[in-house]
Amino acid sequence: MTDLEIAQKAEMVRISKLAEEKLGIPDEHLEPYGHYKAKLSLSYLDSLKERPDGKLILVTAISPTPAGEGKTTTSVGLTDALNRIGKKTVACLREPSLGPCFGLKGGAAGGGYAQVVPMEDINLHFTGDFHAIGLANNLLAAMVDNHIHHGNALGIDQRRVVWRRVVDMNDRALREITVALGGLGNGFPRTDGFDIVVASEVMAIFCLATSRSELKQRLGNIIVGYTRKREPIRARDLDANGAMAALLKDAFKPNIVQTLEGNIAFVHGGPFANIAHGCNSVIATKSALKLADYVVTEAGFGADLGAEKFVNIKCRKSGLRPDVAVVVATIRALKYHGGQPLSDLTTENLEALEVGSRNLKRHVRNIRERFGLPAVVAINRFSSDTDAEIEQLKRCLSHLQVKVVLAEHWEKGGAGAEELAHEVLNVIDDSPSNLRFIYDDNTSLWEKMETVATRIYGASKVVADTKVHKELKRLEDEGFGNCPVCVAKTPYSFSTDPKLLGAPEDHVVKVREVRLAAGAEFVVMICGDVMTMPGLPKQPAAARIDLSSDGRISGLF
Ligand code: ADP
Ligand code: MG
Repeated sequence: MTDLEIAQKAEMVRISKLAEEKLGIPDEHLEPYGHYKAKLSLSYLDSLKERPDGKLILVTAISPTPAGEGKTTTSVGLTDALNRIGKKTVACLREPSLGPCFGLKGGAAGGGYAQVVPMEDINLHFTGDFHAIGLANNLLAAMVDNHIHHGNALGIDQRRVVWRRVVDMNDRALREITVALGGLGNGFPRTDGFDIVVASEVMAIFCLATSRSELKQRLGNIIVGYTRKREPIRARDLDANGAMAALLKDAFKPNIVQTLEGNIAFVHGGPFANIAHGCNSVIATKSALKLADYVVTEAGFGADLGAEKFVNIKCRKSGLRPDVAVVVATIRALKYHGGQPLSDLTTENLEALEVGSRNLKRHVRNIRERFGLPAVVAINRFSSDTDAEIEQLKRCLSHLQVKVVLAEHWEKGGAGAEELAHEVLNVIDDSPSNLRFIYDDNTSLWEKMETVATRIYGASKVVADTKVHKELKRLEDEGFGNCPVCVAKTPYSFSTDPKLLGAPEDHVVKVREVRLAAGAEFVVMICGDVMTMPGLPKQPAAARIDLSSDGRISGLF
């Protein structure tokens, strides 16, 4: 059965009933969107402030491969397993983007018997949050061009407008465009472009803000462009942030849905981890910690991107402190990291597995030694994994003294991840976490980048053109030197070359471009070729998606 067919067979419970039963959320504080999705009121979440926090479990993974790893699937399976063994647990996930949904990867609501439902809704429009975020972004873009059209009192240099438009779709045709063609009445022509919604600064701000007032303030800090004298022009100079916040009024409230086994999952916010900071909203994570004893949350892509940013961006600002990290790996993906071709991943190959396991080992070491988090390795079991391979992987990791647990939630639901759940609880009890940031706020931006590249990626050095160094100097002179860095790079390798699999050493990281996200309060370091607007593949998933005359969707995965 496909993920969608399993999801469509699910007997869902009304979300208001489930929220009351599982977490004691009174009906009047829920804002239902249909019967199976709801938002939580902010006043209710405010009222929970004095409650103690639950334990936070961060799910991360090896460097992703086309073979798939299963972080979301494992987050859901572990949540169900912890509930099965009597622990009040909720999952905190990101909202899926339509780009990958119609592109190569498919949806992001888990898989097999470890999914959140209603799957089609979550993957398609859900509660409209991404539409609202896209519109808030585009309102600001419209106000910039409008300001220039009506006399440009602020003196915005049209060649230095940095605010781009967004749409939640993979559409390469929109990467670089010319706007305002067609004559005087249409404004001043200039080059522009679209990013995907999940790469936008509004998305990052949405996910990092902890209150409506902080949301509005951060939106106001966005820099949209510069004058001829290089003075920054902010969203607040255009009086745009109030209306942007108004567009986000409801989106900002966290959404809840259910797992296939009837446990609660928060699904809220969704920046990509390669071009943005890669985790769900702070407001959802903080709320979940007040409502449950254990919260399982996912950071995108491999631990070099998602977990690094979870720690150094999300935790730094919000005060969140994970208690343990679960590192998801699959035998198939590790064989791929060890040189086994994609077409042949189901054939047993102990040598490729051993070579590829270096990728996993480096991630585990980073998590424990660099971030100070205790770790558990979850082998997300695929039917093609052989017993010899599983034993071999355990052997490869034995010197690390990390618990390695086979997890079969994809096939068996929560029951398949009970051993993982027990190990996670053991580690939480026995190994206190000692979260560390790998750099201090007051280190220079360049040194921050060097620290991430050398200590996390295993690079020998970082290089950049004079242009980049000048830009960093300018940002520091303007007072942004204390921001964390948000590295934009390929997720497929520790390096900036997607083909360097495994655990490459002595590679050189080149910073190509620097972008300030003044509202999100980080500096994006663009390394190698990364797209802030992806394209669809030759055979997009969209071509297989269909709607029957009785209203059933097929082909989503
Ligand atoms: P990630 O969050 O790491 O990107 P997902 O959890 O979304 O990965 O899983 C990606 C895809 O792989 C999903 O379609 C899921 O159904 C599939 N998948 C995950 N685990 C397994 C497994 N053990 N066996 C078969 N397919 C799996
Ligand atoms: Mg995922």
